[in-house]
Amino acid sequence: MPVEPPPPLEGKQRRIGVMTSGGDAPGMNGAVRAVVRMALAKGCEPYAIYEGYEGLVQGGDMIRAMKWEDVRGWLSEGGTLIGTARCAAFRERPGRLQAAKNMILKGIDALVICGGDGSLTGADLFRSEWPSLMDELVEKKELTEAQVKPFRHLNIVGLVGSIDNDLAGTDATIGAYTSLGVICEAIDKLDSTATSHQRAFVIEVMGRHCGWLALMAGVASGADFVFIPEKPPGENWEEEMSKIVTKHRDEGKRKTMVIVAEGAHDSNLKPITPTIVKDLLANKLKLDTRITTLGHVQRGGEACAYDRMLATQQGAEAVNAVLEATPETESPVICIVENKICRRPLMEAVRQTQSVAEAIKVKDFEKAMGLRDHEFAEYYNAYQTTTSAKLPHTLAPENKRLRVGIIHVGAPAGGMNAASRAAVAYCLARGHTPVALMNGFPGLCRHHADGAVHEINWLEAEGWVSKGGSEIGTNRGLPADEACGLEGVAKIFDQYKIQALFVVGGFEAFTAVSQIRKARDYYAALRIPMAVLPATVSNNVPGTEYSLGSDTCLNALIQYCDVMRQSASASRRRVFVVETQGGASGYIATIAGVSIGALAVYTPEKGINLKMLSHDIDFLRQSFAKDKGNSGGGKIILRNEKASETYSTELIADIIREEGKGRFESRHGVPGHFQQGGKPSPMDRMRATRFGFRTMQHLESFAGKSQEEISNDPMSAAVIGIVGAKVKFSPMAKVEAEDTDWKNRRPKNEFWLGLEDLINTLSGRPKPE
Ligand code: ADP
Repeated sequence: MPVEPPPPLEGKQRRIGVMTSGGDAPGMNGAVRAVVRMALAKGCEPYAIYEGYEGLVQGGDMIRAMKWEDVRGWLSEGGTLIGTARCAAFRERPGRLQAAKNMILKGIDALVICGGDGSLTGADLFRSEWPSLMDELVEKKELTEAQVKPFRHLNIVGLVGSIDNDLAGTDATIGAYTSLGVICEAIDKLDSTATSHQRAFVIEVMGRHCGWLALMAGVASGADFVFIPEKPPGENWEEEMSKIVTKHRDEGKRKTMVIVAEGAHDSNLKPITPTIVKDLLANKLKLDTRITTLGHVQRGGEACAYDRMLATQQGAEAVNAVLEATPETESPVICIVENKICRRPLMEAVRQTQSVAEAIKVKDFEKAMGLRDHEFAEYYNAYQTTTSAKLPHTLAPENKRLRVGIIHVGAPAGGMNAASRAAVAYCLARGHTPVALMNGFPGLCRHHADGAVHEINWLEAEGWVSKGGSEIGTNRGLPADEACGLEGVAKIFDQYKIQALFVVGGFEAFTAVSQIRKARDYYAALRIPMAVLPATVSNNVPGTEYSLGSDTCLNALIQYCDVMRQSASASRRRVFVVETQGGASGYIATIAGVSIGALAVYTPEKGINLKMLSHDIDFLRQSFAKDKGNSGGGKIILRNEKASETYSTELIADIIREEGKGRFESRHGVPGHFQQGGKPSPMDRMRATRFGFRTMQHLESFAGKSQEEISNDPMSAAVIGIVGAKVKFSPMAKVEAEDTDWKNRRPKNEFWLGLEDLINTLSGRPKPE
């Protein structure tokens, strides 16, 4: 009996197939979860297509309807639970014809594909052929015209899941940061043994056409040399590398790390293998050298916070794109640019990606670099400068060299040290003098005469990139506090000839620069260029949507929540109420909520009231009743530390337990300082390096200007940050006046506020009436 395709769903609703294809990547499960739940929330029917295109070609039971509960707990699972495969049949038209027929037999008229550029190329081809595939199905009497008619328009949306981060048009692919995290963790471990034995390590990382993992691992670990396919070293690369390694050893560095991307080659496309590099280091430089090939561990396992967040937001956006599509809409791929989720034409992104490989093939490396995102080249330049130490050709003219004070303010945050390391490296490369101002403003004021002000040399800062805490010390005290006083600060700046100020920290750092800026009228020594590089786990600095340390914090927090949740999998139905940091900003609670799939988040912005609690307890009752013994390892409510003065974390847990009446129970957890994380995450290290550089370039642009010119220029006191799709400097005066909620110590308009709706939609939490 031939199977009759079901009629399309009513109205705009669709049957949406979701598939993972190509190489598996961490975060793919989170993307599938988001597509499935978002689709259900919008009245659509989601279908999982198992084993990539293979499932589409085989059809039948390989395409299965998905229910809400089917994706429970998927955010924290590595790999892809619906499988992936390389499918030769789909590369041929008959395979695609069969795939099209199978889709119609299930009534599926939209497809969300999470995969790499190969999978997306296949998707693009499938969509472009779709009308002719329909004709062929009718011609060959596989289906009738009437059966095909409702499916004439196929909707395809791409999600980029790939550890290589090789797709053009998006800053990050789902999985890349997790993979980078694994690489950095491995390098950090090799680092200690290398230092102990004064060894050299050559580390091979994945990336046949794309050097993203290798380059970013180099930036984030402070490697001595990096080989990437897009930018091969010059003809004399052996000499070039030897020179840099020798220089670093001469400066006193006890270890050598060289990173080689799988696809590395010289400018004549001759492969540069780890063995070639090792032989050179061992034979020419006489270093005790080992090779480490990281291999499949780089596939990552459990996704990091960023990938979970990215996968969730993009999966949800893919469903929106399906629902908004018209027959004329080009197939989109969901991308992210800095902090903004956006759609790009799929075909264009795929073409551009392929042209990188083509440019490499014909040795047009400039074009290859140009085709990567601008950020890539920026990281490359930053990397070159941090590792090159003093190179005469990079020096600024003598009359434009500055003494730059580097100071940390507020609580430690991951990436603070990496930012200062970048500033030091930049200063040394340009002939400026980096000066450490130890232990914040109180430290500076009390101890400037006994060592709190000192010039930093390359070796001192070299190892800072991977260090947590604050190597030059930090303090919450402000310049205007009694311990210091602005007059005192001005005197010290004058005495030590501080000509520019590089401030790393959170809301206090922002306040400190604001105080100094306002005191410029009274003290000439304060008429110097100043910039804040935001670093705080709370991510509450006005003028930016991202601050260093927030990513490290999110990773620590999801690790904590995963362990908590797992502990409940063997016990009774349990709700965890976890208290997050964040001061008066609910950022951390909300983003962690997206990343772990929290049941609800309680933020200071919204507060907590009895009605809300009662509503959520009703929801818990219903959802535990539906679970039928499958607790799925416990549910989590995230409560920001300042969400309410009355309803403490413990009290909420007690109320839930009382109301659960034995049907479910509750525990509370306060990870506290654990949230500052150990070693900073790769993202915090990378961005610290990039923003550190940019900030120094900004400060340097004032070199040679008069005090008057400086204080008259609003940009001479600025904060660097990510604002939407851009990295930019904003003048402090404007940000202070227009964007700052001084009472609550947070920005006035917090960009992430809308994400709470996403958490609620994906957890199924009903809207309070
Ligand atoms: P990735 O998506 O990770 O780049 P692949 O390149 O292996 O991985 O592609 C995954 C699958 O996508 C292939 O096995 C094939 O089924 C399909 N595919 C890739 N390229 C094409 C193409 N040019 N035409 C049709 N299908 C393709």
